[in-house]
Amino acid sequence: MAQNIIAANWKMNNDEYSSKKLTYDFLKLLDRKNDNKTLKILCVPYPFLSSVDNMCSGTDSVFVGAQNCSSFEQGAFTGEVSTLMLKSLGIKYVIIGHSERRELFSEKNEDLLNKIIQSIEKEIYPIFCCGEPLSIRNKSTHVDYVLNQLQETVLKLNKESFKKVIIAYEPIWAIGSGKTASNEDIKEMHGAIRGGIKNKYGSSVSKNTSILYGGSVKALNAKDIFDLEDVDGGLIGGASLEAQEFIDIVNSIS
Ligand code: PEP
Repeated sequence: MAQNIIAANWKMNNDEYSSKKLTYDFLKLLDRKNDNKTLKILCVPYPFLSSVDNMCSGTDSVFVGAQNCSSFEQGAFTGEVSTLMLKSLGIKYVIIGHSERRELFSEKNEDLLNKIIQSIEKEIYPIFCCGEPLSIRNKSTHVDYVLNQLQETVLKLNKESFKKVIIAYEPIWAIGSGKTASNEDIKEMHGAIRGGIKNKYGSSVSKNTSILYGGSVKALNAKDIFDLEDVDGGLIGGASLEAQEFIDIVNSIS
């Protein structure tokens, strides 16, 4: 069975004080109804990784992740953050290939594969994002588009490395837009992703791979989405910035 995971993507929001306050409020609310079966991962801005990680260290099921990493190991890459640096802070997760990185920072599948390799080499689990723009969905080529994103990246890994990968399907038109994909859309894509993994690595690996949905998940729609076949949790942007809303999402998964 795939691990249930709810990951927060704070993006470039919050200063140090509000990051700590959000973490504090989240952990306080979590204490009341903690479900250790679901992994919670807070993907926070680089400067706050250590302080948020320290605050979470007393819990069994809350971890901290980065939102990006360098595709290079080390060297003259001003402003970059390597997976070696993340590892030295004890960070275990990193988002790779978020559509904002692909669109705004021109990250290509080739760069993303290098980032994935860097993260796995340092024993950091990549949360690999895939998803189609609206123009592709309107042409009904979304399934091929997303499978191609996987084929050019995570499906190039050997089986042992692939087992470390978490997939997040995030249709770009649903991110931050308030438009959630329909249950049918989500089921179709998650089924196709699991099928692609099965074709490459077999059914045991595919069954054990966590496939998260992301795109305007809120407390109101979370349960319906998480109850769908092949959905093992969510990657939550805007709604993770409010502790009660995020806790309500976390508590929606069973
Ligand atoms: C995201 O940025 O990964 C995301 C899913 O954002 P939102 O939940 O705000 O749509």
